[in-house]
Amino acid sequence: MTGIRRAWALDAPTMTADESFVLTGGGSAPVVMPLPAFLVEHDLGLVLFDAGLAPEAAGDPSAVYGPLAEAFQAVFPEEFRLDRQIEDLGFRTEDVRHVVLSHAHFDHTGGLSHFPHAQGFAGAGELRYAQQPATHLAGFFRKQDLEAAAQISWNELPAGYDHDLFGDGSVTLLSLPGHTPGSLGLQLRQDGRTLVLSGDAAHVQRNISQTTGIPVDVDSVRALDSLRKLKLLAARPDVTVWVNHDPDDWQTHRAGGKQILG
Ligand SMILES: [Zn+2]
Repeated sequence: MTGIRRAWALDAPTMTADESFVLTGGGSAPVVMPLPAFLVEHDLGLVLFDAGLAPEAAGDPSAVYGPLAEAFQAVFPEEFRLDRQIEDLGFRTEDVRHVVLSHAHFDHTGGLSHFPHAQGFAGAGELRYAQQPATHLAGFFRKQDLEAAAQISWNELPAGYDHDLFGDGSVTLLSLPGHTPGSLGLQLRQDGRTLVLSGDAAHVQRNISQTTGIPVDVDSVRALDSLRKLKLLAARPDVTVWVNHDPDDWQTHRAGGKQILG
């Protein structure tokens, strides 16, 4: 029987936005959002969930993201580059066999250029939509990242279908559409414990607890259904739902350091 050996929540850049940006009806309190990527060491190879910001933005996010970096107060130290962190853990970027993309917003696609050899997994329609988004949402997609994505061989997950990546129940891609057309989460199971990484279907825990979406959700009806799915999962005694941009979740789940499983 195969399974997960270890998993890490890699050191994450941050961006800051008002609560009203991440929660419909929210206030003006600042939310310092981590922009994480997760590395999973499975018996059958390394899996990366999300790719954070672009390596060339490390040390100087404004050089790559321009006024956006300043508006969102982006913080991205050099040592947080994905390739450096993967090498520091004793692997090579070529060892990453599977890249799972929660969705194609720029804070999740920046490091895709490191993994042209990988098998990619994205929700149905996600990368197609990223090429031609609604005008008011176009700023969330970065052309250079999509060009890097084009080097990867992608598998598309149909909406409503959850995919058991290795057939052993340890790594399951969760369909969570609505924030974007093909939003995904990742479920990790080890020793009877289940950790669900939300991707951006939720940005803060209150999206789930209040079943309240995010103002920039592309389809707010489907987004609420995805929040209901996360709420049901979170109610299970064996499941922890980690909302990836939630600063409090980051504090809680990273309290023991970078390694989160194993
Ligand atoms: Zn995001």
